[in-house]
Amino acid sequence: MPATLIDGKATAARMTAEIAEDAAAFQHATGIVPHLVAVLVGDDPASAVYVRNKQRACEKAGLKSTLHRLPAETTEIQLLELVEQLNADAAVHGILVQLPLPKHIREQVILDAVIPGKDVDCFHPHNVGLLVQGRPRFLPCTPAGCQRLLAEYKIETAGAQAVVLGRSEIVGKPMAMLLIQRGAVADATVTICHSRTRELASIVRQADILIAAIGKARFVTADMVKPGAVVIDVGINREGDKLVGDVDFEPVSQVASAITPVPGGVGPMTIATLLRNTLTAAQLTVG
Ligand code: NAP
Repeated sequence: MPATLIDGKATAARMTAEIAEDAAAFQHATGIVPHLVAVLVGDDPASAVYVRNKQRACEKAGLKSTLHRLPAETTEIQLLELVEQLNADAAVHGILVQLPLPKHIREQVILDAVIPGKDVDCFHPHNVGLLVQGRPRFLPCTPAGCQRLLAEYKIETAGAQAVVLGRSEIVGKPMAMLLIQRGAVADATVTICHSRTRELASIVRQADILIAAIGKARFVTADMVKPGAVVIDVGINREGDKLVGDVDFEPVSQVASAITPVPGGVGPMTIATLLRNTLTAAQLTVG
C-alpha cells in the first residue's frame, strides 16, 4: 500500500500565512513588528543556508529579521556580550543562536544566557520545564512541527504506540514530551530509543507512529516498520549532493500508511514554528 505523502512544505506555507495574518493584526493593534535576531558564528555552509531560510520565512510572514554574522574566532565572552546586548534590547523579541557553534565555545553556556522570554528555540531550562509540565511558553520547533503534521493529517495519537528514535535535547526528548501530554494530538504511549537500546528493530516495529531523529541515512528499513504505521522522518543527511532522511523512503512508503519526505517534510515545519514562537514572544511583551 503506497503511503499518503505528508506534505510539510504545503502545511508550513499555510502556517506561515496564518502567522502573517496574526502578525499583521498584532502590528495593527500595538504598532509592534515581531523581530527575530539570528546569530551565526563561523562559516559552516549548512548553517548559513538554515539561517537564510529562516530569514526568508520571516519576510514571508511579515516579521523583521536581523542577522549578526560573527567570525569563527569569536570568543565565548564576546558571544555572551552580544547575547546580553540582545537580551536588553526591547526591540528584539526572539534570539536564535544557530548551532553548531565553534568547538571553543560552550553551547550550553550560550543557550542558557538567552533570557527565557526571547528563547524562541525553547532550549532554556525554564522553557523546557514549562513544556514538561504541560504549560509551554514556546513550542520546541521541530517536535511541534511534527505534531502539527500529525494534526493536519488527522492521525489518531490518543492511545497510540509512538516510538521516538533519538533522545537529543532538540528533537527526541521534547518530541516524546509533546506526545505524552494530556490533550489533542498527544495522549500517546511513548517509547524513546537511542544508541544503547536493545532489540531496537523489534521496538520500532511496534510503533503506530514512528518519529525518526538519529541522523543516520536510511537507517529505518521497511522490515522495521509495522504495516500501516505513520512515519515522520526528521533526519537530514547528505548523500553526495542529495539530502536523505533517517528512513529508507521508497521501500518504507510501501509499508507505511503515511510518511514525510526529505526534503519537504519536517524541515519547513521547524521554521514555521520558529516564526510562531517569535510572534508569541512579541505578544508576551505586551501581556
Ligand atoms: P543528535 O543530537 O546527534 O542525536 C541523535 C540521537 O540519535 C541520539 O540520541 C543518539 O543516541 C541516537 N542515535 C544515533 N545513532 C543511533 C543508532 N544507530 N541507533 C539508535 N539511536 C541512535 O541529533 P539531532 O540533533 O536530534 O538530529 C537528528 C537528525 O535530525 C539529524 O539528521 C539532524 O540533521 C536532523 N534534524 C532535522 C531538523 C529538521 O528541522 N528537519 C531539525 C533538527 C535536526 P545517543 O543519545 O545514545 O547517542
